This record gives sequence, structure tokens and C-alpha cells, in this order.
Amino acid sequence: MKETAHSKVNSENEITFISKTKSILLNNLTKKVMPVIMLGCVNFFATAQPSHKNPWIKADIGKLPPIASLTMGLWLKGDLHVHSSHSTESANNPVSKIIAFSKSVGIDYICITDHDNHVNGDVAHHTWADPEFKSDDVLLLYGAEWTTVRGHGNVFSAQPYDHQRLYDVRDQRDTAIGRIKKGLGIHLSANHPSGKDHFGYSYDIINSLEVWNSVLWSKNAEAIMIWDDMLSSGRKLTGRGGSDAHHGNPETPDKATANSGQAKANYVCTPTTWVFATARTKQAVVDALTNGRVSVSANPYAPRVEFYADLDDNGKMDMMMGDNAKPTGKAVKFRVQLTGKTVSDTAYTVTVIKNGGKFGSFNTSDKIPAIEFTDTPAATGRTYYRVVVEGPPTAYPEVPQAMALSGNMVGLSNPIYFNFDPNF
Ligand SMILES: [Zn+2]
Ligand SMILES: [Zn+2]
Repeated sequence: MKETAHSKVNSENEITFISKTKSILLNNLTKKVMPVIMLGCVNFFATAQPSHKNPWIKADIGKLPPIASLTMGLWLKGDLHVHSSHSTESANNPVSKIIAFSKSVGIDYICITDHDNHVNGDVAHHTWADPEFKSDDVLLLYGAEWTTVRGHGNVFSAQPYDHQRLYDVRDQRDTAIGRIKKGLGIHLSANHPSGKDHFGYSYDIINSLEVWNSVLWSKNAEAIMIWDDMLSSGRKLTGRGGSDAHHGNPETPDKATANSGQAKANYVCTPTTWVFATARTKQAVVDALTNGRVSVSANPYAPRVEFYADLDDNGKMDMMMGDNAKPTGKAVKFRVQLTGKTVSDTAYTVTVIKNGGKFGSFNTSDKIPAIEFTDTPAATGRTYYRVVVEGPPTAYPEVPQAMALSGNMVGLSNPIYFNFDPNF
């Protein structure tokens, strides 16, 4: 714009003129001066920004607590997810029937986990107050299925606790839930963590997750994926099973419902969770679940998967699944054995998972249902190994269709851990 334009300015033109002049000036400034200023700024900000030090960087985790005895204890088998008639959608499954059945197939412990939303959180006056909720033979854990719009979780406790408080906090922030859970002193476990009713809470508020829900093994692939992700991130979370059985066999044909057929395919202990407990007590079962000395088998008659490691190559096993040790920098000898009724003259396939990826596959010989392998866990950082065993299925005559549904899946172990921070 020429200077003459300025003599007949209206306010709009003036603004135009001023802005154009300003833009020429700015252009010059940008070309000549700004790079210098910018350079100065860059240098200024680079030096002014406080240097970030990653507070989470891997550091030596110090001494780990000693590993518990591998022999002072006993293996106990049970089911951690069963619904009785106190869950309104369950049929023909009173508490007495579940307990009598459990006893008849030699089950050591069970947790009847009725839906808390069916009784507005008041489990104490329903399932636990049921006069049939007692047994001299089967350890009955106190628990319930925390049934919320963000997903389902099971509580396991050796003694009654105030479940109402956990029910009431269900829609609050996870930090509030974590505080309540800690105050109650309970073991909280994520149920069927993927798919419908997936566990939509932080995995930091749980102690274990259901990696094998119901007899149908094939539908658990995503739960296993979530477990490996959590383990890989340093969370030492126990994997456990749960039949999630809702229905019993009807006493008489007229009691049959549309779901009665389920009892023939999926019932108590499909699958079975084994724990290595220090004693035959409810508290020892819950403690074993928390510390991860746990494996899961297709049913109560299927062989149990045991996973051990020999740290110093002296032929004596030093740790088992759930245990956590410092790596020595030397090779570790691992042993997987199947205990119980195995099918002779048939090989079982043991797949070893290391840090979420496949490490290798090993076949048992037809005489000894065990395999060994060697590996050197990283001297720094975390390493974990877990195993999955496939092979000939075991019949469960009391639940006759179960064997076909669990297929070749025999069992799985919890991991053996190296360098996991116990204070994480
Ligand atoms: Zn559920
Ligand atoms: Zn359930």
C-alpha cells in the first residue's frame, strides 16, 4: 500500500496499513533477527528445563526373602468359583449339594462365590448364614463374586469379612477400592478377565486372576495373554482356575431347567486349582493362592503339574512355582513333573513360556512323566518361566462331558520368578 492511501484513511484502511507495515517489519525481523532469537530460546529452554531422571529405572532390588520349604506342606485341590442357589440364576445347586459332591470326589477346599448384587452385597446373611454352609471334610472359604458394571472379581478369605463394604465401593475410583480391600485383608481375584464382564479395574488391586474359567479351555486364550502382559510388567500375579458352575443335576426330572445339561459338562472342579499349602487350613489355602504355589488341572483326576528349579546344579530342587529368586548368572536346571494318574505309554507335551514368549516344547518319555530343561535367567532385570502341559485327557465320570470339552489341555503351572521386586 502507498503512503497516499493513508491520507484518506478510514479506520479499517488504517488498520490494514498498519498491519501490512507491521507484517513487513515482522517479515524482516523473522528473516534476520528471529533465527538469532530462536536460537537463543532453544538454548535457553534446553538449559532451563530441569533434567529428568527416571525414578523407575531398574535398580538392584536387594536381598530377597528366603524361599519357603519345598517339603513342609501338602497339595490341596479345589474350586474357587462356584455358584449356589443363593445366586438367583443358578438352578438345582443348593450349598449342601455342592459340599456333598465336593466330598464325594475328594476335593479339599471350595469357595462358593455367589453374586453379591443378587443380595445387595449382604453375603453374610445369605450364603454364609445358610445352615448347610458347614463341612467337617471340605475347607469352606468365605467369598463372593463381586459383580459390578465394570466386571467381576472373586474374594477369597479364611474368615468372614464385611463384604458389604466392598460392594458399596464398587463404582468408586480404584484407589478408594484398593484402600477398602486392604482394610478388609482379603484376597481379590479378577474373574474371566476378557470378553463379557471383563475385569475393568486396575490390576494393581488384585492378587490373582482367573486364567482358566470353566471346562472349555479354548476360550481362555485372551485371559492368558492378559496374564503374560501383567507378569511381563513386573506384577507377580497368581493364575488360578474356576469352574463358574451355576447348575446342579436335578433331583427329579420335573426339577430340570433349560440349563440343567450344563452340570454334565461343567461342574465343581472343571478345572481344579491345586495349591501347595503349609497346612490343611483355610488360611494356608488363601496364603498359597497369594504366593503363587499354584497349578491348574483339567479336573480333579487329571495329573497335577509341578514345576521346580535347581539353582546350584546339586541335583536338589531349590524353588517351585510362585517362588522368586535372585539370578546367580549361572545356568538353572528346571524340572516339570506330572503327579497323579498319568496315562502310561503316551507322551505329554510341555510348552515352556519365558517372559511371555515360547521358550520351547518338550515331550515326556513314555516311562517318566517329567521333563527337564536348562536356561540362564538374565543377571539383571526380571525373568519368568511358566509351563503348559497337553496330552491325553483324563475322564471325570461324575461330569461325563467334561473330558471332551477340556480336550488335550492337561494343566498349567504358575511361574518361577527371577528378580521380581517383592515391594512392587
Ligand atoms: Zn462372573
Ligand atoms: Zn461366576
